Amino acid sequence: MGAGTLFLCATPIGNLTDVTIRVLDTLREVDVVAAEDTRRTRRLLQRYDIRTPMLSYREENREAVGRRIVEQLEAGESVGLVSDAGTPGVSDPGSHLVALCLDRGIRVESLPGPNAAISALVVSGLPTRRFSFEGFPPRKKGARRKALEALIDDERTLIFYESPNRTPEMLADVLEVLGDRRCALARELTKRYEEVLRGTVSAVLARVGEGALKGEVVLVVEGAPAGGTVGEGALEEALLRVEALVEGGAGLKEASASVAAETPGVSRGTLYNLSLERR
Ligand code: SAM
Repeated sequence: MGAGTLFLCATPIGNLTDVTIRVLDTLREVDVVAAEDTRRTRRLLQRYDIRTPMLSYREENREAVGRRIVEQLEAGESVGLVSDAGTPGVSDPGSHLVALCLDRGIRVESLPGPNAAISALVVSGLPTRRFSFEGFPPRKKGARRKALEALIDDERTLIFYESPNRTPEMLADVLEVLGDRRCALARELTKRYEEVLRGTVSAVLARVGEGALKGEVVLVVEGAPAGGTVGEGALEEALLRVEALVEGGAGLKEASASVAAETPGVSRGTLYNLSLERR
């Protein structure tokens, strides 16, 4: 008997009617549904009267259960993979199982559907022609700021997943490292309390406040200004002002931030890095 197929089944990110007919048919027909969050998937299956057996496949058990799933596939069974929400393989253990299957020559098919990153991007109002999906930023402040510093000159629209309680800290770091760009904070997409806050990072941060947010969020941030937006002259002038502040006793970080705040189109990071290079 030939090996079965692993079907990557995209499921709703909130509204249970956001599911394709093909995904429902497949979840009905496969031998087993591998679900990241069996409780959440059970609600979907019950809603559509699907009685396929489920097994739990999540980050903590991905090695052992991944091997078991591969054995089932090699024995000719078919498996539908479902993440807690959206498209399996995007910021969840799905990509690990896909790699495992491809390694063993098992067929993998993608059944497209909802995805929180793309849903947030298209509703953000920011440029969609080029974008970079950054997944979850590091949890620790130092690592997070380093990750943001690496994006300072990236002109693509940036998309981040974030936990609601870390969102205020993340916005504050974006403000400091990337500058006061336009952004959109998409919360609870497709759900009853769906909300998209659009504006500069400082304005969105002010609306969010310090307190924890509720629900699930995606943060979309405008890319760096296209090369040439800031003339050589303006940049040179800004660098001289940083130099003067440093000579007057300010720290380089502090001086770069204060000059960036009053120079549209120049980020704190650009001033900091260029000043360092000149030293
Ligand atoms: N595989 C999923 C996808 O295709 O979007 C993403 C899984 S990831 C573990 C979960 C993250 O997606 C959440 O922390 C949040 O950032 C985002 N997310 C999921 N559902 C969302 C929703 N309804 N509204 C806003 N963000 C959502």
